[in-house]
Amino acid sequence: MKITRFQHNESIEYGVIESGRIHLIDGSVFSEEIAYKDEYAELDRVKLLSPVVPSKVVCVGLNYKDHAKELSMPIPEEPIIFLKPPSSLIGPGENILYPSSVNRLDYEAELAIVIKKYTKSILSDRSSQHILGYTALNDVTARDLQKKDGQWTRAKSFDTFCPVGPYIATDLDADDLHIELNVNGQIKQSSSTSNMIFGVDFLVSFISGVMSLMPGDIIATGTPKGVGSLSRGDKIELIIEGIGSLKNQII
Ligand code: ZN
Repeated sequence: MKITRFQHNESIEYGVIESGRIHLIDGSVFSEEIAYKDEYAELDRVKLLSPVVPSKVVCVGLNYKDHAKELSMPIPEEPIIFLKPPSSLIGPGENILYPSSVNRLDYEAELAIVIKKYTKSILSDRSSQHILGYTALNDVTARDLQKKDGQWTRAKSFDTFCPVGPYIATDLDADDLHIELNVNGQIKQSSSTSNMIFGVDFLVSFISGVMSLMPGDIIATGTPKGVGSLSRGDKIELIIEGIGSLKNQII
């Protein structure tokens, strides 16, 4: 199923997409059995929000073989992890703000794992039980500041630098999903999650060995080859098979 979070009248609701409509969820989206309200909303009449509100976004650097090859970088022995703050999140259709202090802004199309329950030091064969589903995430990066600072916090953390959505797809096998990003209709990234160096189950286990993961926490699994820069006015579309299309514009 596809889970959405959206603005509905005066409140914020979670729902499940059912043949073009949204069936509103009653209670927590993280409970073992999802319960429903006797209420629907029209998908094309609501404002979709980031499908989840994480306590943290854990990102993985250099995790695609095709991207490592493109950069002539060796395959890392362990995942390189870093954080993006929850304040950087925006939803589908929201604008990415190009900061005046930045000279090079890049897109990074990524498959994002959404954590279902408290996860600490689990073995990778238990990871699937801790995953609610998958969504798309654009790890927007101020590339000039990343190089200048020598560490990544400022470059990755500006408000609006983390578009997420449009939905959380559950029951998805993440081993071989097509991932694509286009800018103004021109394809820039086109790959498969099968090119990942460290797979989903390993990443959940590895990161949970470092920090406790909470329901709703996001793990962004790295970007494939074809990373490039953006200009003000650019329209970005990130498409992941089985999840949908996440559209945002640079202003
Ligand atoms: Zn990234």
